[in-house]
Amino acid sequence: MSKSLLRVALPVPLPTLFDYLPPKALRAEDCLPGMRVKVPFGRAGKIGVVMQHAGNSEFSVDRLRAAEALIDQQPLLQQEHLAFLQWAAGYYHHPVGEVVSAALPLRLRKQARALPLAETIYRVCIPPEEALAAVSRAPRQRALLQVLLDAPGGRMPDSRLRAFQEGISEPLRRLCDKGLVDAVEGEPQAMPFAPVAPGHVLNEEQQRAVAAVDAELGGFAAFLLEGVTGSGKTEVYLQLSAAVLEQGKSVMILVPEISLTPQLQQRFAERLGGAVSVLHSGMGEAERERAWQRVRLGLNRVVLGTRSLVLNPVADLGLIVVDEEHDTSFKQQDGFRYSARDLAVVRAQRADCPVVLGSATPSLESLRNVQTGRYQHLQLTERAGGAKPPRIDLLDIRDQPLQSGMSEPMLKELARTLQAGEQAMVFLNRRGFAPVLACYSCGWVSDCPRCDAHQTLHRSSNLLWCHHCGSQRRVPQVCPECGAADLHPLGQGTEQIESFLAGRFPDVPLIRVDRDATARKGSLDKLLSQVHESEAALLVGTQMLAKGHHFPRVTLVGVMDADGGLFSADFRATERMAQLLMQVAGRAGRGDRPGRVLIQTRYPEHPLLQTLVQRGYDAFAQAALSERSEAEFPPFAYQALLRAEANRQEPPVAFLQQVVDWIGTLSDAEVQLWGPVPAPMARRIGRFRAHLLIQAAARERLHPVLTQLQQHLAEWKEARKVRWSLDVDPADTY
Ligand SMILES: [Zn+2]
Ligand SMILES: [Zn+2]
Repeated sequence: MSKSLLRVALPVPLPTLFDYLPPKALRAEDCLPGMRVKVPFGRAGKIGVVMQHAGNSEFSVDRLRAAEALIDQQPLLQQEHLAFLQWAAGYYHHPVGEVVSAALPLRLRKQARALPLAETIYRVCIPPEEALAAVSRAPRQRALLQVLLDAPGGRMPDSRLRAFQEGISEPLRRLCDKGLVDAVEGEPQAMPFAPVAPGHVLNEEQQRAVAAVDAELGGFAAFLLEGVTGSGKTEVYLQLSAAVLEQGKSVMILVPEISLTPQLQQRFAERLGGAVSVLHSGMGEAERERAWQRVRLGLNRVVLGTRSLVLNPVADLGLIVVDEEHDTSFKQQDGFRYSARDLAVVRAQRADCPVVLGSATPSLESLRNVQTGRYQHLQLTERAGGAKPPRIDLLDIRDQPLQSGMSEPMLKELARTLQAGEQAMVFLNRRGFAPVLACYSCGWVSDCPRCDAHQTLHRSSNLLWCHHCGSQRRVPQVCPECGAADLHPLGQGTEQIESFLAGRFPDVPLIRVDRDATARKGSLDKLLSQVHESEAALLVGTQMLAKGHHFPRVTLVGVMDADGGLFSADFRATERMAQLLMQVAGRAGRGDRPGRVLIQTRYPEHPLLQTLVQRGYDAFAQAALSERSEAEFPPFAYQALLRAEANRQEPPVAFLQQVVDWIGTLSDAEVQLWGPVPAPMARRIGRFRAHLLIQAAARERLHPVLTQLQQHLAEWKEARKVRWSLDVDPADTY
């Protein structure tokens, strides 16, 4: 039977593909898998992607409708990539059409035609000496002009110019306005691969790591690259990337945060010759689509990006790197709840290439995969330049008088460090001035009207602000409940530490790094360069401080509070706390001076804290793994979380209870069910929330139940009374 039907993925919340006849005057063979079609669906119609051709449909052919139009002349996604996306949709039990749609840039999810790839080429259009003379007083324009003059023929395509540095738009526009440079349209060009030799030799461990991965290029292998902070993991990535580019293949590098891309991009571009693209949500739509196309077509061979990059098509994939693999931001927390780290491993397997997961504090999941032999373990234990690891001490604050949460020994150490002309960092993972405002007369506290949470006091903006739903109100002068002028902040946030330390050390530059202080674009860079220019300085911040940035002059790190992670209901909380503490500690003493870390705690005898401080992260991780094994928690079991929420309290629990009963009717279901229970934050943004945890000892037992459940929920009327979602391998239970 000839395959005359199109099976199409549509971005709708149903776990199925949709059958259509080809558009009028076209045959199925004209509409290749990976091309977009416009189809009738609902009132406005939808844009979908042809996934495959089919010979028959579960509906009779004369009832099928025809697609309205074929949008693309060439497939946007290759067959292998469609198969990967379909696999991901199946594994995460998420509607396949939404997964396929997530692999396309925003513009292409609509009817828009793909932007032409022909690109703008800039060239110097007057004699070089004249041009240089005209910008003698504008250093940035002059530098850019010099880059153009140094390029062959005094010309360079736009994408290559941008690969070298960010922020060239303004000087480039000025050069054009002055008539020194003009722009012409040209054919898209592949970025040349022009490796530059590294400035220094790799140490023995780095060489061994490079050699181990290099030996596996061309086939699948998974590596955990465990390297202490400052041990030069990036150098390993760079060498491996050069080897992959040498073979004419592409490299995909996933990082947890956009803010880490510029410095990494520059480092890669300098060493690999400008073949680097970035892809992240902070880019404009057109810019993002062009980068997506260039990577898809293999015009750029190195692509750096955040989580969603793992879904994008990349030509001739030869290596995947996941940096900071333990970071929770690799797990999407809404909609299609995939783990980019886990999908990276699957993707490497399907593309027959190695994957390298790098971290100073690997996740317990990855360490478990090392234990079972699924991942090869590569270790970097030496810090660059022979820097010594920092000394870590616990500071018992049970009987200490505290000022803004800070003990006298901590303040003394800060003073000593600053007097020595060195820098210190104070870490507190809570922004704002205080986590709650309270009335001492009647006991009123600043609860969020929509969540089971407090509104945080932000003194600089004079707001009470819920960090969960964003609700805000002005800080009241008197108690809204009893009218007493007796309102007081309770607890500390970074804003308060900043103002306290500013009073205590008035002569020292003080910089706060958190989401509030760096909300404006480019302001983080500005703050960081201030730090680099100073001698003695104080840094105060949240986990933004802990991630990736280099502060060579910091010799003391003070941690305000380590106790939050010790007694949480979430079984992953201790792991997260240990990772964060180690990341923060890694900021101390990276230059030639040894570092010191002080951790304030009320539980200095806590065994996990003791293990971490005395024997390091690896010993902690082994202890934590045996606890998980005994408790039969992941990675020794597999979980899925069914969440439900509604405007009233009863429906979510009632719905989940019905699901429990329904799973009970499945004869072959070998799963454990925990719940339904109200979510830890039982009310959020005005909606009541509950969940049901489904767990099994093996994926092969869990997933068949999830598949049946997904089908059942799609057809079940009761399920429409609540908003539900299924989270496979949940990262937390909020
Ligand atoms: Zn009151
Ligand atoms: Zn709220």
